[in-house]
Amino acid sequence: MPSCAAPGCARVVDSTRLMCWPHWRQVPRAVQQVVWRRWRAYLASTPATEAERWAAYMVARKAAVDSVTESSGQ
Ligand SMILES: [Zn+2]
Repeated sequence: MPSCAAPGCARVVDSTRLMCWPHWRQVPRAVQQVVWRRWRAYLASTPATEAERWAAYMVARKAAVDSVTESSGQ
């Protein structure tokens, strides 16, 4: 099981989740939607190549992680 993607958080999360709930709820809704959309696109076989879909997901994932870091004042 992976751990929460938020910096300094060691909570174990389900493999389909990026973060624990307390951190995920800090992520702006628009960013959450992009993360989910790109994660689903990654699991699907289209569009683009697997590497390109993964890169797109990682950009959205970073935006989500950054939003948590900022809202916790670090
Ligand atoms: Zn967390």
